[in-house]
Amino acid sequence: MRYISTRGNSGPREFKEILLEGLAPDGGLYVPEKYPRFSSEELDSLRGKSYHEVALYILRIFIDDISEKDLDEIISRTYTKEIFGTDAITPLKHLEKGLSLLQLSNGPTLAFKDVPLQLLGNLMEYVLEERGSELNILGATSGDTGSAAAYALKGKKNIRLFMLSPYGRMSRFQQRQMYTLNEPNIFNIVVNGTFDDCQTIVKEANADAEFKKKYKLGAVNSINWARISAQIVYYFYSYLRLTKDNSKRVAYAVPSGNFGNALSAHIASKMGLNIEIIVCTNENDVLDQFFKTGIYRVLKGNDVKITSSPSMDIASASNFERFIFDYVGRDSAKVRVLWKELNQKREFDIGRIEPRVPFGITSGSATDAEVLDTIRIVYKKYAVVIDPHTAVAMKVGLEKCEKGVPLVVIETAQPAKFADTIREALGIEVPAPKGYENLANLPEKTTRIENDAELVKKFIEENT
Ligand SMILES: *Cc1c(COP(=O)(O)O)cnc(C)c1O
Repeated sequence: MRYISTRGNSGPREFKEILLEGLAPDGGLYVPEKYPRFSSEELDSLRGKSYHEVALYILRIFIDDISEKDLDEIISRTYTKEIFGTDAITPLKHLEKGLSLLQLSNGPTLAFKDVPLQLLGNLMEYVLEERGSELNILGATSGDTGSAAAYALKGKKNIRLFMLSPYGRMSRFQQRQMYTLNEPNIFNIVVNGTFDDCQTIVKEANADAEFKKKYKLGAVNSINWARISAQIVYYFYSYLRLTKDNSKRVAYAVPSGNFGNALSAHIASKMGLNIEIIVCTNENDVLDQFFKTGIYRVLKGNDVKITSSPSMDIASASNFERFIFDYVGRDSAKVRVLWKELNQKREFDIGRIEPRVPFGITSGSATDAEVLDTIRIVYKKYAVVIDPHTAVAMKVGLEKCEKGVPLVVIETAQPAKFADTIREALGIEVPAPKGYENLANLPEKTTRIENDAELVKKFIEENT
């Protein structure tokens, strides 16, 4: 499989080459030259297979420059019961006829980002070992990415993680989970500023070409292709578990922020899976607005609302360009025109380029008040506590799903991570999940730093 850029002027490259890169040099995102397409017989042959077997079957197509034997070994080390709690890795929880939860949040940090990042950590270690080189990952987080990356990279050879987070802006649980990790290769840098400030620092450090080269800076952000490909697996795995044959349509309600998870669903459908995708946003509804009107209008950093589902509080959706690339018939010239317009005017209207072509995606959004209501309804009806991100998808999914089509709501986080919202909705305390009972008593390992890229660069110099 070779990878090309959505802007048409970089690549083609191999998987291992793009694994350690962020954006393509031309400013676009890497996508497979073409998607594989599975026949109905091929899908049938996967029905009943384990998570590991389905993962290997799919990932060997996208990762064909690692031997199948080594890839098999990496996948079997990654997706284990020890790390993800069950043999199913991403189990389905049946709520009632035609309604289930796809539980993606049973990994070490209790959020769905563990599913792709645990694999990414092992792939990176493998490739760096092979090349005899090392990498310093610099990232910014406002919540789940930071801890999922830290738990995926801790103890890995030849990798250090420098993770910037805004002082006092994450949930209590998220902070404790990340800051109490005491590992020699993980550095928590707490910035006196906002998440936007943290992202700006990452951009500035990467813009310093000499620094970037000397300290071998890398990224694990949501545009990383390996993450997207790892997320395709659970759509196949769950669909095959839910159906007896491929004529059955299944709807997936996906809580969306940077559009990584929903993009993986879109690719699974391009690969032949008979699924309907419902993109679910909170009040930061740039994606919902797009799918309703065809106008993609990004927010200014200050206009991003703080909601009870912080991992979906985004100004723009970093993976969206990959979807648009497919939508305009993989025509990079059109993508370049649209993103030029976006950079100038903060918006574009896709209808002017591709009038009247349906998106194949439905969407909706939920307010914080609706999230509280939904958490209450689900608790009352099924005695199940869901987190606010999952509640966004539950609310929108139930509203938009066609009659007679079974609905799978994607669970992206455990409620314990968002105890304040659960207390507000239900008046109960969610017990600490297994392994986290002692979280409140552990010492923190962090460095507080002023909002200044030079200080962060100096910190990296001193710790490599
Ligand atoms: C990251 C995240 C999301 C959003 O996923 P995207 O792939 O960015 O759309 C939703 N819920 C939780 C809990 C997350 O951590």
